[in-house]
Amino acid sequence: MQNYWGIDLGGTKIEGVILSAPSPDAVIIRKRIDTEAHKGYDHIMSQIIRLIDMLKTETGLQPERVGFGTPGSFDPARQSMKNCNTTVLNGKPMKQDLARLLGVPVSVANDANCFALAESTMGIVPDVVPDFQTVFGVIMGTGVGGGVVIRGRDGVPFVLNGLQGIGGEWGHNILEENGYPCYCGKSGCNEQVISGPALQRYYAKVSGEERTMKEIMDRYQEGNDLVASQTVNRMLEYFGRAVSVIINILDPDAIVLGGGVGNVDLLYTEGVERAKKYVFNSREINTKFLKPKLGDSAGVFGAALL
Ligand SMILES: [Zn+2]
Repeated sequence: MQNYWGIDLGGTKIEGVILSAPSPDAVIIRKRIDTEAHKGYDHIMSQIIRLIDMLKTETGLQPERVGFGTPGSFDPARQSMKNCNTTVLNGKPMKQDLARLLGVPVSVANDANCFALAESTMGIVPDVVPDFQTVFGVIMGTGVGGGVVIRGRDGVPFVLNGLQGIGGEWGHNILEENGYPCYCGKSGCNEQVISGPALQRYYAKVSGEERTMKEIMDRYQEGNDLVASQTVNRMLEYFGRAVSVIINILDPDAIVLGGGVGNVDLLYTEGVERAKKYVFNSREINTKFLKPKLGDSAGVFGAALL
């Protein structure tokens, strides 16, 4: 029987899993080792091979193919990695190198795509919308990202990578005119407006005080910090605008909100209310907004499902 092998490549840890079925209860083995990214690309490749050898040795199993979740995207046109915050990967033909080193086919997708695929296949989505056609997975945390999952004609959900490998890259749509400069070269991207660091930066600029996102939310709930109210209002309003773009283009059955900021309850109520002003549907939204249920496991499970 075919098992599902997945590797989640992070900046500090590499995690590997073997699943016997697409279910969180079907974990055969799960292991993690240090990435040691500072030692360079070849070292990262050898760490991945070492982890896969450990999985093989401890289970006696052999992969027929392996899925990889990565911090950036695989560019099909250039056949190399891009947009990785583990920057030694950028420009490297990681997919071909891994296929050659492992001797089996490999699939590569970024972490937001893996999150979207895992939650759509074995997370919250099957519980709520089992017959979905399209799901958009959002990560709103330190960064902002997204992934599109579509149910194929064979009934199996797959990730829409896109022609240039940037399918679902919602975090770098421009949301605020003349907004904060982004590392991607543009200004006012979603990530520079509604990520945790961007909201904290806004609070600090207006109030002159540094506070964490959690402190800002607590102070908003207490109701006597005007700047906390402004920050939360800004988050909701811009979330509404940003999410309306997804609905107008994809009109997905569900949007799963992951990441630290994605956990804020108000997004599911007031945030959706704000989006109603901007969707092309007479101020009505039937899209399900869902909290993820796989937690930190979504990355490695999603990789295994690739
Ligand atoms: Zn950007």
